[in-house]
Amino acid sequence: MSIEDIILEEDVGVYKTLLESTRAIPWKIEWATLRFAYIGPQIEELLGWSSQSWATVQDWADRMHPEDRAWVFDFCVSQSQAGVDHEADYRALTKNGEYVWIRDVVHVVRNPDGSPNALIGFMFDISERKRTEEKLLDMQRELEELSFKDGLTGVANRRRFDMVMEAAWRDARQGRSTLSLVVLDIDFFKQYNDHYGHLEGDECLKRVASALSNIVRNPDDLLCRFGGEEFVLLLQDTDEATALALAWRCLDLVEKAMIPHGGLGPGKRVTLSAGVHTLIPKEGDEILPAIAVADRRLYLAKQRGRARVVAEGGN
Ligand code: GH3
Ligand code: MG
Ligand code: MG
Repeated sequence: MSIEDIILEEDVGVYKTLLESTRAIPWKIEWATLRFAYIGPQIEELLGWSSQSWATVQDWADRMHPEDRAWVFDFCVSQSQAGVDHEADYRALTKNGEYVWIRDVVHVVRNPDGSPNALIGFMFDISERKRTEEKLLDMQRELEELSFKDGLTGVANRRRFDMVMEAAWRDARQGRSTLSLVVLDIDFFKQYNDHYGHLEGDECLKRVASALSNIVRNPDDLLCRFGGEEFVLLLQDTDEATALALAWRCLDLVEKAMIPHGGLGPGKRVTLSAGVHTLIPKEGDEILPAIAVADRRLYLAKQRGRARVVAEGGN
C-alpha cells in the first residue's frame, strides 16, 4: 500500500496547504520529460520567478550562478540516474539579478525496475547560514593574520618568522640550496626615544618597517620584526653576494625615507646597521646559532661606526 492509497481525496487540499505554507519550497520533476510537474508558489517570494515560469530542468539550471551550474547539474543528474537521494548547495538567481544560497534536498522516486521515475525535493533558503559561515571564516582569517603580524608595524612577527624559517631551513637542507639571513637594527634608537618620546619612537619603527617592506622580491622573501628595533630578512635560495647587495639596499631605503634623528644633532637621519649570514644548512645544524652568526656581524657593524653591513670575512 502506498501513501497515495492512504490519503483520502478530501485530504489532498490539506496536504497542499501544509506544503505551501512551509518556508521550504516543494517541487517535483518528471524524469521522462525533465519538466517540473510542480513547484510551490513560495518560490516567487524567494526568487521573484513565478511558479509557472519553472517549466523545465533547463530553467532551473539557467537560474543558477554560472560558477555553480556545471557541477551542481552534473552531480544531481548522476546521483538521480544512480537512484541516490542527495542534496546540493548553490546560488540561485533572483529575478532582479541577485543570488540567494539554496540547499536543494532531493529524493529520487524509482520505477519497479530501479530506474528514476521522478525527483521530488525541497529547496531551503540558506543564505543566512552562509552569511554566518562567511563571517566566521573572515574572522578566522583575520585572527590568523593578526597572530602572524606584528601589531605595531604590520610586518610579519617573530612567530611567523619561526614558522617560515623552519620550513625554509628544511628545504635548503634537503635541496642543498643557500639560505641568507640579514639582521637589521636601528642605530642609536635609544637616543631617538629619549629625544622624541616613546610614541614618536613607535612612529619611527613604523616608517622603518614600511621602507624595508619594499625589499621583498617574491613570496619566498620574508621581512619580520624580530623584536624591539630589530628586523630580520630571510632570503631563500639567495647567495651571499645577492644578500649583501640586498642588505645595503635596506640601509639605502631607510636613508631615503629621510627620518630625522634630532637626538644625534641637527640634520641627522635615522640609519640602520646589518649583519649577513649565508649558509647551506647541514644535517645537525641548528637555526639559532645561524641567527647568532648574523647577530655577531651586526655587532661588528655597530663597532665599526654603524650605518654599514658586515658579512662573512668582515666585509
Ligand atoms: P645601537 O645603535 O647600538 O643599536 O643603539 P640603540 O640605542 O639602538 O640600542 P639599544 O639596544 O641600546 O636600544 C634599543 C632601544 O629600542 C631601547 C628600547 O627602549 C627601544 N625599543 C624597543 N622596542 C621598542 C618599541 O616597540 N617602541 C619604542 N618606541 N622603542 C622601543
Ligand atoms: Mg639599535
Ligand atoms: Mg637592538
